[in-house]
Amino acid sequence: MSAYRDAPPGPLACPRCRKPLPPLEVAACTHACGTWVSALVAGEVLTEVDRRPDPVTRWWRVRAPCPVCTDKMRLYGEDPGLLQGCAVHGYFVDGDTVVYTDLARGVDLTSLAELIESPALNAERARLRALEAEHDREMADQPRQREQAARERAAITAATAKRAFTEKLRTALCFPSGPGNAALLAEQLVALIEKVVELEERIRKLEASR
Ligand SMILES: [Zn+2]
Ligand SMILES: [Zn+2]
Repeated sequence: MSAYRDAPPGPLACPRCRKPLPPLEVAACTHACGTWVSALVAGEVLTEVDRRPDPVTRWWRVRAPCPVCTDKMRLYGEDPGLLQGCAVHGYFVDGDTVVYTDLARGVDLTSLAELIESPALNAERARLRALEAEHDREMADQPRQREQAARERAAITAATAKRAFTEKLRTALCFPSGPGNAALLAEQLVALIEKVVELEERIRKLEASR
């Protein structure tokens, strides 16, 4: 989904109540949940502090999905002016937080509309378009990365199991439990060797599938 390319996006849904937001770059939810600020104009209506990502994204409220890309938004700003945002698409300031951000100064929608029409934001538009393309590539890459991580985890599990069995085998060989148990011991050894062979086969297959 794109905010900067080709087709104009339909009305965005409020990340809190899911009702359509007004089709504006600074759009207050009509149900008073809060205000959506598009990334394009965020530099005009929010301060740098408002737009500073919180390094730990600690959050006492439910983090909402970005209304454009549906990624869970991150935390931005500074307590008590904490807000959520997607670096590519924009920021959502909860209704009771607006007062702690630069939005409290009010937004002149007419001059903002003029600014959007002017070439002044072209560089920002291009930066966001590039950021969005990069984000799309990352998203497309995710299934492949998850698969690779799962393969690596499986290989580690198999290797750990193999080490444990090898250890048991070594213990059995070093401490035979007397002549009366020779047949039982042999049986256990065969079972262990079979298990090791099976695990080796699994590791070989995993390594081959990389
Ligand atoms: Zn709402
Ligand atoms: Zn987004």
